[in-house]
Amino acid sequence: MNWNKYIDNDQLAKFDKPVDEWTDLEIRDWQIDNYNNQEGTHDGSYKCVKCKDKGDIAVPIDDDKTSYPQWGLMDCECKKKQVAANRLVNSSLGKIIKSLNMNSFKTKYDWQVKIKQKAVEYGKNPKGWFYVGGAIGRGKSHLCFATVQSLIYNGKQVEYMMWQSDVNEIKAMEMHMKQEALKLLKHAEVLYIDDLFKKSQTDADIKIAYEILNHRYNMDKPTIISSEYTLEQLETIDEAIASRIGERSRKHNIKLSKDTTKNIRKEWR
Ligand SMILES: [Zn+2]
Repeated sequence: MNWNKYIDNDQLAKFDKPVDEWTDLEIRDWQIDNYNNQEGTHDGSYKCVKCKDKGDIAVPIDDDKTSYPQWGLMDCECKKKQVAANRLVNSSLGKIIKSLNMNSFKTKYDWQVKIKQKAVEYGKNPKGWFYVGGAIGRGKSHLCFATVQSLIYNGKQVEYMMWQSDVNEIKAMEMHMKQEALKLLKHAEVLYIDDLFKKSQTDADIKIAYEILNHRYNMDKPTIISSEYTLEQLETIDEAIASRIGERSRKHNIKLSKDTTKNIRKEWR
């Protein structure tokens, strides 16, 4: 280790102790403090008290793993959120979400208030799955996109699968690419499947849906699903998939009936 690259001897010399008496550990800790005290802004106007707007934090590297005291940089929470927000703004999802957020979700009726509450709750604390089934109309997607937005602003990574087009794309892929695409969907921190089984419920479609959802079920990974089918209707398409969704979304299973649809379409056009 060439310490000279990292130590400013003039700075160390300011301390009472002679430079050559500093132990490696003391130098390491001094370097960590020194880095963490630096500001990312020049005028002291930083917003994040943890990293002072540098975006990262100096931390000691586990001593067991190194032969001498070392330190490294860790992304700050604020950077993770910023990256997620930037990613969202630049994505196609970002354009949709701009208009379909929680604030623009109308709550004229009691049932709208109730489902919005569930969505807000899930956006803050995504435990289990979130299922919205039934009505065709803009309310379903609006609610899911608004939930996705909350999750992203809370630092979660959300993958978006537009069922109909994405499943067709996956089916057309070569084996290796297909595995990669499925891996992404299976392992995503949060996955939103938009319009599950819309127009496409062949055996191959069901197999893909099962592979993704069964993995997420086993790993208990937050998953948001919208579909024009209620859970009962989904059972007639595939019982195994329906039962997994049913179990995981017990607390967040929203069923929009036909009458409700009428209201939604009237209200949101
Ligand atoms: Zn920070």
